[in-house]
Amino acid sequence: MPRLGVIGWPVAHSRSPSMFEAAFEACGLEDWTYQRLPLTPELFDETVRALGGAGFLGANVTIPHKQAALAVADRASETARAIGAANTLTFGADGSIEAENTDAPGIVAALERSIAGMTALVLGAGGSARAAVWALLDGGATSVSVWNRTPERAVSLARELGADPVSRPVEADLLVNCTSVGLQRSASELATLNQLCLDADLLGRYQYVVDLVYSDRPTPLLSAAREHGARTVDGLAVLVAQGALSFEAWTGRPAPLDAMRRGASAAVDPEPAPQ
Ligand code: NAP
Repeated sequence: MPRLGVIGWPVAHSRSPSMFEAAFEACGLEDWTYQRLPLTPELFDETVRALGGAGFLGANVTIPHKQAALAVADRASETARAIGAANTLTFGADGSIEAENTDAPGIVAALERSIAGMTALVLGAGGSARAAVWALLDGGATSVSVWNRTPERAVSLARELGADPVSRPVEADLLVNCTSVGLQRSASELATLNQLCLDADLLGRYQYVVDLVYSDRPTPLLSAAREHGARTVDGLAVLVAQGALSFEAWTGRPAPLDAMRRGASAAVDPEPAPQ
Protein backbone atom coordinates (compact mmCIF):
# COMPACT_ATOMS: atom_id res chain seq x y z
CA MET A 1 0.00 0.00 0.00
CA PRO A 2 1.94 3.09 -1.18
CA ARG A 3 1.66 5.90 1.39
CA LEU A 4 1.96 9.62 0.66
CA GLY A 5 1.26 12.73 2.71
CA VAL A 6 1.68 16.45 3.21
CA ILE A 7 4.01 17.72 5.93
CA GLY A 8 3.29 21.14 7.44
CA TRP A 9 2.77 23.19 10.60
CA PRO A 10 -0.08 24.02 10.51
CA VAL A 11 -1.42 21.58 7.94
CA ALA A 12 -5.11 21.21 8.89
CA HIS A 13 -6.03 23.69 6.10
CA SER A 14 -4.35 21.58 3.39
CA ARG A 15 -6.62 20.35 0.60
CA SER A 16 -3.95 18.04 -0.78
CA PRO A 17 -5.43 14.90 0.87
CA SER A 18 -8.82 15.44 -0.77
CA MET A 19 -7.16 16.35 -4.11
CA PHE A 20 -4.90 13.25 -4.12
CA GLU A 21 -7.68 10.88 -2.98
CA ALA A 22 -9.75 12.07 -5.97
CA ALA A 23 -6.74 11.48 -8.24
CA PHE A 24 -6.16 7.93 -6.91
CA GLU A 25 -9.83 7.07 -7.41
CA ALA A 26 -9.84 8.45 -10.97
CA CYS A 27 -6.75 6.35 -11.82
CA GLY A 28 -7.86 3.14 -10.10
CA LEU A 29 -5.09 3.41 -7.48
CA GLU A 30 -7.45 2.33 -4.69
CA ASP A 31 -4.75 1.10 -2.31
CA TRP A 32 -2.78 4.39 -2.40
CA THR A 33 -3.23 6.66 0.63
CA TYR A 34 -2.44 10.33 1.30
CA GLN A 35 -2.60 11.90 4.77
CA ARG A 36 -1.80 15.08 6.68
CA LEU A 37 1.49 14.93 8.59
CA PRO A 38 1.55 17.75 11.17
CA LEU A 39 5.21 18.25 12.12
CA THR A 40 6.84 20.98 14.18
CA PRO A 41 10.15 22.36 12.86
CA GLU A 42 12.00 20.65 15.76
CA LEU A 43 10.76 17.20 14.66
CA PHE A 44 11.08 17.74 10.91
CA ASP A 45 14.47 16.15 10.11
CA GLU A 46 14.16 13.13 12.37
CA THR A 47 10.61 12.30 11.29
CA VAL A 48 11.22 12.83 7.58
CA ARG A 49 14.21 10.48 7.68
CA ALA A 50 11.94 7.80 9.22
CA LEU A 51 9.07 8.14 6.72
CA GLY A 52 10.59 5.89 4.02
CA GLY A 53 10.99 3.08 6.54
CA ALA A 54 7.37 3.54 7.61
CA GLY A 55 6.17 2.76 4.08
CA PHE A 56 5.96 6.29 2.66
CA LEU A 57 6.81 6.65 -1.03
CA GLY A 58 6.89 10.44 -0.83
CA ALA A 59 5.52 13.60 0.71
CA ASN A 60 4.57 17.13 -0.20
CA VAL A 61 6.01 19.80 2.07
CA THR A 62 4.31 23.05 2.98
CA ILE A 63 4.57 25.97 5.41
CA PRO A 64 7.15 26.45 7.01
CA HIS A 65 9.37 23.52 5.99
CA LYS A 66 10.27 24.01 2.32
CA GLN A 67 13.86 25.11 2.93
CA ALA A 68 14.35 22.35 5.52
CA ALA A 69 13.01 19.86 2.94
CA LEU A 70 15.82 20.75 0.55
CA ALA A 71 18.39 20.56 3.34
CA VAL A 72 17.32 17.08 4.51
CA ALA A 73 17.47 15.58 0.99
CA ASP A 74 20.39 13.49 -0.27
CA ARG A 75 19.72 14.53 -3.88
CA ALA A 76 17.84 17.49 -5.34
CA SER A 77 16.82 18.58 -8.82
CA GLU A 78 18.58 21.55 -10.42
CA THR A 79 15.37 23.60 -10.03
CA ALA A 80 15.02 22.86 -6.30
CA ARG A 81 18.70 23.72 -5.74
CA ALA A 82 18.44 26.96 -7.70
CA ILE A 83 15.30 27.96 -5.76
CA GLY A 84 16.73 26.87 -2.40
CA ALA A 85 13.49 25.13 -1.37
CA ALA A 86 11.58 21.92 -2.12
CA ASN A 87 7.92 20.93 -1.86
CA THR A 88 8.11 17.33 -3.07
CA LEU A 89 10.15 14.56 -1.45
CA THR A 90 10.54 11.00 -2.74
CA PHE A 91 11.84 8.27 -0.44
CA GLY A 92 14.01 5.62 -2.14
CA ALA A 93 14.05 1.92 -1.20
CA ASP A 94 17.70 2.46 -0.10
CA GLY A 95 16.59 5.08 2.46
CA SER A 96 17.67 8.05 0.33
CA ILE A 97 15.59 11.21 -0.01
CA GLU A 98 15.17 13.09 -3.29
CA ALA A 99 13.87 16.69 -3.43
CA GLU A 100 11.98 18.47 -6.20
CA ASN A 101 10.21 21.81 -6.46
CA THR A 102 6.89 21.70 -8.31
CA ASP A 103 5.67 25.05 -6.92
CA ALA A 104 7.67 26.99 -9.53
CA PRO A 105 6.24 25.27 -12.63
CA GLY A 106 2.86 25.12 -10.83
CA ILE A 107 2.68 28.90 -10.45
CA VAL A 108 3.58 29.39 -14.14
CA ALA A 109 1.03 26.78 -15.28
CA ALA A 110 -1.75 28.33 -13.16
CA LEU A 111 -1.16 31.74 -14.76
CA GLU A 112 -2.02 30.23 -18.18
CA ARG A 113 -0.08 32.97 -19.98
CA SER A 114 3.48 33.92 -20.75
CA ILE A 115 5.33 35.96 -18.13
CA ALA A 116 7.91 37.18 -20.66
CA GLY A 117 8.19 40.97 -20.61
CA MET A 118 6.08 41.45 -17.48
CA THR A 119 7.12 43.21 -14.29
CA ALA A 120 6.22 41.44 -11.05
CA LEU A 121 5.96 42.04 -7.31
CA VAL A 122 6.25 39.05 -4.97
CA LEU A 123 5.01 39.41 -1.38
CA GLY A 124 6.82 37.14 1.09
CA ALA A 125 10.27 35.65 1.53
CA GLY A 126 9.52 32.06 2.57
CA GLY A 127 9.69 28.84 0.58
CA SER A 128 6.92 29.63 -1.89
CA ALA A 129 8.21 33.17 -2.48
CA ARG A 130 11.57 31.69 -3.47
CA ALA A 131 9.80 29.45 -6.01
CA ALA A 132 7.73 32.35 -7.36
CA VAL A 133 10.71 34.70 -7.78
CA TRP A 134 12.76 32.01 -9.51
CA ALA A 135 9.85 31.00 -11.78
CA LEU A 136 9.10 34.60 -12.79
CA LEU A 137 12.73 35.38 -13.62
CA ASP A 138 13.12 32.03 -15.41
CA GLY A 139 9.93 32.79 -17.37
CA GLY A 140 11.36 36.09 -18.68
CA ALA A 141 9.88 38.73 -16.33
CA THR A 142 11.77 41.98 -16.94
CA SER A 143 11.96 42.75 -13.21
CA VAL A 144 10.83 41.06 -10.01
CA SER A 145 10.51 43.09 -6.80
CA VAL A 146 10.25 41.40 -3.41
CA TRP A 147 8.50 42.84 -0.34
CA ASN A 148 8.41 41.05 3.02
CA ARG A 149 7.23 41.89 6.55
CA THR A 150 10.74 41.14 7.78
CA PRO A 151 12.75 43.22 5.30
CA GLU A 152 16.11 41.48 5.84
CA ARG A 153 14.63 38.25 4.50
CA ALA A 154 13.46 40.03 1.32
CA VAL A 155 16.94 41.52 0.87
CA SER A 156 18.69 38.20 1.24
CA LEU A 157 16.22 36.29 -1.01
CA ALA A 158 16.40 39.00 -3.69
CA ARG A 159 20.22 39.08 -3.62
CA GLU A 160 20.42 35.33 -3.89
CA LEU A 161 17.96 34.98 -6.78
CA GLY A 162 18.62 38.21 -8.70
CA ALA A 163 15.47 40.19 -7.79
CA ASP A 164 15.02 43.69 -6.26
CA PRO A 165 14.09 44.07 -2.58
CA VAL A 166 11.57 46.87 -1.88
CA SER A 167 10.61 48.48 1.42
CA ARG A 168 6.97 49.08 0.25
CA PRO A 169 4.90 47.16 -2.32
CA VAL A 170 5.47 48.74 -5.75
CA GLU A 171 3.39 48.84 -8.94
CA ALA A 172 3.87 45.97 -11.39
CA ASP A 173 1.96 44.01 -14.04
CA LEU A 174 1.68 40.99 -11.79
CA LEU A 175 1.31 40.68 -8.00
CA VAL A 176 1.91 37.29 -6.36
CA ASN A 177 1.06 36.85 -2.67
CA CYS A 178 3.37 34.22 -1.19
CA THR A 179 2.73 35.11 2.45
CA SER A 180 0.35 33.20 4.68
CA VAL A 181 -1.72 36.37 5.21
CA GLY A 182 -5.39 35.57 4.50
CA LEU A 183 -5.05 31.95 5.62
CA GLN A 184 -7.18 32.64 8.72
CA ARG A 185 -10.85 32.23 7.78
CA SER A 186 -11.70 35.27 9.88
CA ALA A 187 -9.30 37.57 7.94
CA SER A 188 -11.04 40.72 6.66
CA GLU A 189 -10.13 42.62 3.47
CA LEU A 190 -8.90 45.63 5.40
CA ALA A 191 -6.78 43.64 7.86
CA THR A 192 -5.30 41.59 5.00
CA LEU A 193 -4.39 44.64 2.93
CA ASN A 194 -2.94 46.37 6.00
CA GLN A 195 -0.78 43.35 6.84
CA LEU A 196 0.51 43.34 3.28
CA CYS A 197 1.00 47.15 3.23
CA LEU A 198 -1.28 47.30 0.16
CA ASP A 199 -3.61 50.17 -0.67
CA ALA A 200 -7.01 48.98 -2.00
CA ASP A 201 -7.21 51.83 -4.52
CA LEU A 202 -3.90 50.84 -6.09
CA LEU A 203 -4.83 47.18 -6.49
CA GLY A 204 -6.43 47.81 -9.90
CA ARG A 205 -3.03 48.87 -11.23
CA TYR A 206 -1.92 45.23 -11.19
CA GLN A 207 -3.16 43.43 -14.31
CA TYR A 208 -3.00 40.08 -12.54
CA VAL A 209 -3.15 39.21 -8.84
CA VAL A 210 -2.23 35.68 -7.77
CA ASP A 211 -2.88 34.53 -4.20
CA LEU A 212 -1.18 31.30 -3.18
CA VAL A 213 -3.41 31.18 -0.11
CA TYR A 214 -6.60 29.23 -0.78
CA SER A 215 -9.96 28.89 0.89
CA ASP A 216 -13.54 27.80 0.12
CA ARG A 217 -14.35 31.41 -0.73
CA PRO A 218 -12.32 34.10 -2.54
CA THR A 219 -9.52 35.23 -0.24
CA PRO A 220 -9.74 38.83 1.03
CA LEU A 221 -6.87 39.82 -1.30
CA LEU A 222 -8.55 38.35 -4.39
CA SER A 223 -11.95 39.86 -3.49
CA ALA A 224 -10.37 43.30 -3.19
CA ALA A 225 -8.33 42.81 -6.40
CA ARG A 226 -11.46 41.80 -8.38
CA GLU A 227 -13.41 44.78 -7.02
CA HIS A 228 -10.66 47.00 -8.39
CA GLY A 229 -10.58 45.40 -11.85
CA ALA A 230 -7.53 43.11 -11.64
CA ARG A 231 -7.64 39.61 -13.14
CA THR A 232 -7.11 36.98 -10.46
CA VAL A 233 -5.64 33.50 -10.11
CA ASP A 234 -6.51 31.62 -6.94
CA GLY A 235 -4.43 29.32 -4.79
CA LEU A 236 -6.48 26.26 -5.75
CA ALA A 237 -5.32 26.63 -9.38
CA VAL A 238 -1.71 26.67 -8.13
CA LEU A 239 -2.39 23.77 -5.75
CA VAL A 240 -3.74 21.59 -8.56
CA ALA A 241 -0.91 22.52 -10.96
CA GLN A 242 1.89 21.78 -8.47
CA GLY A 243 0.09 18.67 -7.11
CA ALA A 244 -0.32 17.28 -10.62
CA LEU A 245 3.45 17.38 -11.13
CA SER A 246 4.06 15.61 -7.78
CA PHE A 247 1.44 12.97 -8.72
CA GLU A 248 3.19 12.31 -12.04
CA ALA A 249 6.60 12.03 -10.36
CA TRP A 250 5.33 9.47 -7.80
CA THR A 251 2.99 7.38 -9.97
CA GLY A 252 4.56 7.74 -13.43
CA ARG A 253 1.04 8.41 -14.79
CA PRO A 254 -0.52 11.53 -16.31
CA ALA A 255 -2.37 13.48 -13.61
CA PRO A 256 -6.20 13.42 -13.79
CA LEU A 257 -6.51 17.22 -13.63
CA ASP A 258 -10.32 17.45 -13.62
CA ALA A 259 -10.61 14.96 -10.76
CA MET A 260 -7.90 16.80 -8.82
CA ARG A 261 -9.71 20.12 -9.31
CA ARG A 262 -12.97 18.58 -8.12
CA GLY A 263 -11.26 16.98 -5.10
CA ALA A 264 -9.50 20.20 -4.12
CA SER A 265 -12.69 22.26 -4.48
CA ALA A 266 -14.87 19.80 -2.55
CA ALA A 267 -12.68 19.78 0.59
CA VAL A 268 -14.15 21.54 3.60
CA ASP A 269 -12.04 24.09 5.47
CA PRO A 270 -11.48 23.36 9.19
CA GLU A 271 -13.33 25.52 11.69
CA PRO A 272 -11.02 28.07 13.32
CA ALA A 273 -9.67 26.91 16.69
CA PRO A 274 -11.43 28.57 19.66
CA GLN A 275 -9.49 31.62 20.88
P1 NAP B 1 6.71 30.26 4.83
O1 NAP B 1 7.99 29.77 4.25
O2 NAP B 1 6.42 29.97 6.25
O3 NAP B 1 6.65 31.86 4.61
C1 NAP B 1 5.61 32.61 5.18
C2 NAP B 1 5.68 34.05 4.69
O4 NAP B 1 4.51 34.74 5.15
C3 NAP B 1 6.90 34.84 5.19
O5 NAP B 1 7.33 35.70 4.17
C4 NAP B 1 6.30 35.63 6.37
O6 NAP B 1 6.98 36.85 6.62
C5 NAP B 1 4.92 35.94 5.81
N1 NAP B 1 3.97 36.26 6.88
C6 NAP B 1 3.47 35.41 7.82
N2 NAP B 1 2.61 36.07 8.63
C7 NAP B 1 2.58 37.36 8.20
C8 NAP B 1 1.88 38.52 8.63
N3 NAP B 1 1.02 38.49 9.67
N4 NAP B 1 2.06 39.67 7.95
C9 NAP B 1 2.90 39.72 6.87
N5 NAP B 1 3.61 38.64 6.42
C10 NAP B 1 3.44 37.47 7.08
O7 NAP B 1 5.45 29.72 3.99
P2 NAP B 1 5.36 29.25 2.46
O8 NAP B 1 5.61 27.81 2.36
O9 NAP B 1 6.13 30.19 1.61
O10 NAP B 1 3.78 29.43 2.19
C11 NAP B 1 3.17 30.71 2.24
C12 NAP B 1 1.68 30.58 1.93
O11 NAP B 1 1.46 30.11 0.60
C13 NAP B 1 0.96 29.59 2.86
O12 NAP B 1 -0.32 30.11 3.18
C14 NAP B 1 0.82 28.34 1.99
O13 NAP B 1 -0.32 27.57 2.37
C15 NAP B 1 0.61 28.98 0.62
N6 NAP B 1 1.03 28.10 -0.48
C16 NAP B 1 0.09 27.65 -1.34
C17 NAP B 1 0.46 26.89 -2.42
C18 NAP B 1 -0.58 26.44 -3.38
O14 NAP B 1 -0.37 25.44 -4.05
N7 NAP B 1 -1.69 27.13 -3.49
C19 NAP B 1 1.79 26.53 -2.64
C20 NAP B 1 2.73 26.99 -1.74
C21 NAP B 1 2.34 27.78 -0.65
P3 NAP B 1 8.19 36.94 7.70
O15 NAP B 1 9.42 36.55 6.94
O16 NAP B 1 8.17 38.34 8.12
O17 NAP B 1 7.85 35.97 8.80
